[in-house]
Amino acid sequence: MAFKVIKESILKYNDDIAENIRTLLKEKKILMVNIISSPGAGKTTFLEKVGPMLGRKGIRFAIITGDCFTSRDAERIDALGLEVVQINTGGACHIDAALVKNALEEINISGKDLIIVENVGNLVCPAEFDIGEDMKIAFLSTAEGADKPLKYPLVIKESKLAVVNKVDLLKYVDFDMDFSEKCIRQINPGLEVIKISCKSGEGIERVLEWIKNKIKIKKENVL
Ligand code: MG
Ligand code: ZN
Repeated sequence: MAFKVIKESILKYNDDIAENIRTLLKEKKILMVNIISSPGAGKTTFLEKVGPMLGRKGIRFAIITGDCFTSRDAERIDALGLEVVQINTGGACHIDAALVKNALEEINISGKDLIIVENVGNLVCPAEFDIGEDMKIAFLSTAEGADKPLKYPLVIKESKLAVVNKVDLLKYVDFDMDFSEKCIRQINPGLEVIKISCKSGEGIERVLEWIKNKIKIKKENVL
């Protein structure tokens, strides 16, 4: 029997929605960043730290947190009085553009400067899904293997910033920072790396400045 082969990319439907989101955010001059890491690298803790600081700097923002099943991340962020929408993927290991579109509909985006998306903890397919963001941020930690950038090259290649969290643990773990940076540069030579500790606060201000600068560039319509 003759049969049809559907050649259309499985990502095509996603990419169309992502493009719509990108157009909307461009029109509203809102920066959207997509934070990607393995589980336990400290994304939510980072947001708990950085959220109130962004607020004090007068940046108007909302957070979208992605999780397979729970609302634990959103509860933590909501407890700080920050605007947050939780996406539950129902087991799917990444956020796609349709989910982000739904989440954005729950946010009063007019007047916002920034949307931060905390993706599902997973270094593999979140890097493959365009969600209409301006940039991905690869979020690593010293509690993981220093060679993770080589094992998960796509997220490093696709990101505009790499954050290495938990530098306060360096004295207790065998994480080789120089080697890790070498791995990052091997995949993405120009990628900026900022080392932070959500526990001590070290480096957080640098990430804030990086984000603030990107917001400014977006407002100036250069992006
Ligand atoms: Mg989290
Ligand atoms: Zn996935």
